[in-house]
Amino acid sequence: MWKNLGLTGKIIVAMILGIIVGLVINGLNLNGEGGFVNTYITNGFFAIVGTLFVNSLKMLVVPLVLVSLICGVCGIGDIRLLGRIGTKTFFIYMVTTALAIATAIGLGSLFGIGSGMNIATDAAFEAKEAPPLLEVFSNIVPSNPIAAMVNGDMLSIIFFAILLGVSILMVGKPAKGLVQSLELINEVILKMVTIIMNLAPYGVFALLAKAMSELGFELILSLLSYMAVLVGSLAFHFFVTMMIILKLFSGLSIRTFLTKMREVQIFAFSTSSSNATIPITLRTVTKRMGVDNSVASFTVPFGATINMDGTAIMQGTATIFIANIYGVDLSVVDYLIVILMSVLASIGTAGVPGVGLIMLSMVFAQVGLPVEGIGLILGVDRILDMLRTAVNVGGDAAVTAIVAKSESKLDLAVYNDPDAGSKDV
Ligand code: ASP
Repeated sequence: MWKNLGLTGKIIVAMILGIIVGLVINGLNLNGEGGFVNTYITNGFFAIVGTLFVNSLKMLVVPLVLVSLICGVCGIGDIRLLGRIGTKTFFIYMVTTALAIATAIGLGSLFGIGSGMNIATDAAFEAKEAPPLLEVFSNIVPSNPIAAMVNGDMLSIIFFAILLGVSILMVGKPAKGLVQSLELINEVILKMVTIIMNLAPYGVFALLAKAMSELGFELILSLLSYMAVLVGSLAFHFFVTMMIILKLFSGLSIRTFLTKMREVQIFAFSTSSSNATIPITLRTVTKRMGVDNSVASFTVPFGATINMDGTAIMQGTATIFIANIYGVDLSVVDYLIVILMSVLASIGTAGVPGVGLIMLSMVFAQVGLPVEGIGLILGVDRILDMLRTAVNVGGDAAVTAIVAKSESKLDLAVYNDPDAGSKDV
């Protein structure tokens, strides 16, 4: 039966099994520190398999982004068109992020989360330094591109790849062989993605079993209102706002989009990292949705870095929650600052696990909320990080499809074919 499931089916079954196994370990209190299960299973076997899986994804991110983006720029062939696609993408990313956080603030205020709540505020949170925004901008141009690749600085890599692509275009005919070779390398790396996707059920199972075995249920109960409003806002933003925008601006089928996104979102959910999910997102939008590589190679890594709707939603909800707990009255101007800061913070931070909390400390500092308040929500952030990352990558893919459709760079026959891109997996 396992053999007949197909890859998506296998990944879904692995996800459910991982959640069940993790919850059983948690429920039976088997995960005590120093015990057999903790040492050899959750922090042993599950941790090793999970890390191997995430590493194998991360391994492909830099080479894939670099090569596919150079190919993408050469594929566009027109520098002005590149500028237009870039501007359009940036604008839609920012607007959708602002909409996301506005939804969170709206719902959070509506339900008055946190008001009248008496949580012992002995929680501690050491805010890590977020990169200053000006530094982020000046680092877009890498002084050493190899160092940028070693550190995985996505904006620097994007800049370098675009410049390289534009230069290849300017060299013109003599560089044709080079472009063909790069396109071949791109195909080869995408094959590597395919191989790793086949291992996904095992990786997803291990990651989820480990994560669920570590959940603190007492914490979840005491923070239920925060979690419920946050999850509601995430669902509303992705399934309602983003899908209306997708339909309105591209006319594409929502159902097809959601079906084809399932695997990508499970990857994002289990790895909590938009960055590590880039290879899967890129493969899905190009091979399964028919988006031309010239658009996707730019919009996907760019989105994984600067577009974080789910993270912005967490920031809106957390701001309301903590402000209510500490009895701080936020004015309309404060809310506007929260929106602006969250949008800016998302530009400066990469899509890796837990980065949302660092951004949150930037936002809190701006509106005068106690940064140590973040300690209160720290305990449940692991699971919320998983959910918001799934929304983050969902936004990247939706905007990619919208931009591609508007530039006639989306093959409708591929988009509408349910089996497209799934045969070779
Ligand atoms: N984990 C998120 C991502 O990679 C970022 C965050 O909200 O912490 O997209």
